Amino acid sequence: MSDREPAANCLFCRIVRGEIPAQKVYEDDEVLAFRDIRPAAPVHVLVIPKLHIATLYDAAPEHAPVLGRMLALLGRIAREQGATDGFRTIANTGRVGGQEVYHVHIHVIGGPRPLGPMIVRQQA
Ligand code: AMP
Ligand code: ZN
Repeated sequence: MSDREPAANCLFCRIVRGEIPAQKVYEDDEVLAFRDIRPAAPVHVLVIPKLHIATLYDAAPEHAPVLGRMLALLGRIAREQGATDGFRTIANTGRVGGQEVYHVHIHVIGGPRPLGPMIVRQQA
């Protein structure tokens, strides 16, 4: 999925609707968290709003409650998945950010070992 999709075709909306299976690790009326299908570390969960918001560019003040709820759940979700000594959050946005799925999601990545530097810095 390389461009913005209407919610009907959106992969993560389809997971919310139960049309595509996912390994859910948390769910409430506004937020869903499930395991990333291609984990980058022993703990790799995606936390999404059930409401379709394509990117963080599209996030508006009315989305602040659900986005805040997501942030406030990250520690609990990470801990419950076994990332008890720290984790990394990533929200890729748009082409430059490397966003593949155009439904806002926060990656929660962790595991027993430190993850190393967040980005590889290029030489000046
Ligand atoms: P991003 O590059 O931030 O848009 O990341 C999208 C993430 O979604 C990638 O890490 C994929 O491995 C993950 N992903 C794609 N399809 C699925 C799926 N059906 N279930 C779980 N994770 C998925
Ligand atoms: Zn969606």
